Amino acid sequence: MQVQQLVVGELSTNCYLVVSEDTNRAAVIDPGGDAPLILSAIHKAGVTVDYIVDTHGHLDHVLAAADVQAATKAKIAIHKLDVPLLTNDPTGLADWLGVKLPIFVPDLLLDEEDELRVGDITLRVIHTPGHTPGHITLLTAGAAFVGDVLFAQGIGRTDFPGGSYQQLMESIRTRLLTLDDATIVYPGHGPATTIGAERRQNPWL
Ligand SMILES: [Zn+2]
Ligand SMILES: [Zn+2]
Repeated sequence: MQVQQLVVGELSTNCYLVVSEDTNRAAVIDPGGDAPLILSAIHKAGVTVDYIVDTHGHLDHVLAAADVQAATKAKIAIHKLDVPLLTNDPTGLADWLGVKLPIFVPDLLLDEEDELRVGDITLRVIHTPGHTPGHITLLTAGAAFVGDVLFAQGIGRTDFPGGSYQQLMESIRTRLLTLDDATIVYPGHGPATTIGAERRQNPWL
């Protein structure tokens, strides 16, 4: 598995291009803007994109989903509980950016323990609510794509409608801190980290 981090959009969101090198299949996680940059990375890698996966429905994680889909024909997947966010943006970003909702209609509605196969990679869906009701983390061998649940030295905001600090902390405690210390954490913003580093140093935990 090869992971390319692209920083996209007004809020410097991490979009990840996850590549199965043996099969040249790929997934795009959180295409939050700058579709040309994402498409150029896909083109350079020479891969076929099977899935566009949104860790959650906030606009800064989905803004380029339709453009990436138009160019790749990949299926867009999001947890069912975040579908309302696609038509009713609680962050105010849609107004700020002058974007009309919805940007896309999802092809796949995800739920706990669903699995997405990308070549020889399996992305396992776990439900990690708190930042949004339908926030997911994608687990694969040795890595977790955690969106806005956990950051290096930080945790996700819970002050938007539908957010819950209690739920967020429970998601982190029961679903993320139970992972191996060596697990690489790919967050929605900022640098990558590991479960072990956050367990030891994250002031919020
Ligand atoms: Zn968010
Ligand atoms: Zn975000």
